[in-house]
Amino acid sequence: MSLSETKEPGAFEQMRLYLARKGRRVWRMTVLSRRQLTERMTRVEFFVGDVDELDWKRGQDLVLEMPVGAGIARRHYTIRDIDTAKRTLTIDFVAHGHGASSEWLRNASEGSVLDAAGPRGHTWVRPADWHLFVGDETAIPGIAAMLEGLQRNTPAYAFIEIADAAERASAPMDARIVWLTRNGMPPGPSRILYDAVEAFALPPGRGHAYVIGETSNVRAIRQRLIARGLSKDQIAAEGYWRPGRIGGHDHV
Ligand SMILES: Cc1cc2nc3c(=O)[nH]c(=O)nc-3n(C[C@H](O)[C@H](O)[C@H](O)COP(=O)(O)OP(=O)(O)OC[C@H]3O[C@@H](n4cnc5c(N)ncnc54)[C@H](O)[C@@H]3O)c2cc1C
Repeated sequence: MSLSETKEPGAFEQMRLYLARKGRRVWRMTVLSRRQLTERMTRVEFFVGDVDELDWKRGQDLVLEMPVGAGIARRHYTIRDIDTAKRTLTIDFVAHGHGASSEWLRNASEGSVLDAAGPRGHTWVRPADWHLFVGDETAIPGIAAMLEGLQRNTPAYAFIEIADAAERASAPMDARIVWLTRNGMPPGPSRILYDAVEAFALPPGRGHAYVIGETSNVRAIRQRLIARGLSKDQIAAEGYWRPGRIGGHDHV
């Protein structure tokens, strides 16, 4: 039975849901449309009736409760965009070939329903002289949302790792983004982003870095930025996935 069919959960089920949602507000989301942005990125537009009450910061995410098989799979997904006039919320899903989200996405069509708790997360733009965004394809929705929220004249630099050049269509054209391709290597721990950030000369002034994506890459880049002079409170870092980990997130 899916959560959407669970009309009146008992007291025990209610407490279990409350704990899983950590007291966060829950949004009922109904699929309106889906579109293939690239081979690996699928955009899903949801109708959310009360989305005008969803107070979010660009870069934050929701915990989607995806009905899969007989249960619910909880997975973090970034809010790519919200349109309060249309009452829609957009999420971009990376297909990586395994996992409950792929199964949900395969079967999702217009009218499919899920609940989502949030928003949550500390990845959002802080006041700074310049901004450095770093991440793999799971970070594209967050980085694109944050870049779109910045004034065009605010200095911003983004390094994004993708499978191949065709995946650049996952985000709008933006001269501030440097794309780094894996060229046949699998996603996961690597030095691709690390080396690119290492070669980047930190601009003068007080900057803020946002480092998100595969956990070990995030951890290594964060440590290196601290060694290069950024203080911990100048870096928002979060592990979005890691080989072998099922759902969740890693504090870095
Ligand atoms: C705050 C936050 C925001 C996020 N935002 C987005 C987003 O907007 N879009 C998005 O696509 N993802 C996003 N993610 C990442 C996403 O939640 C994870 O990739 C999640 O594991 C996907 O669930 P799944 O059911 O596909 O795979 P799981 O069932 O969680 O994992 C199954 C297997 O797949 C592997 N795996 C998981 N993700 C990947 C990957 N990207 N590449 C290769 N192997 C992987 C796991 O290590 C595991 O071995 C975000 C994560 C966090 C914490």
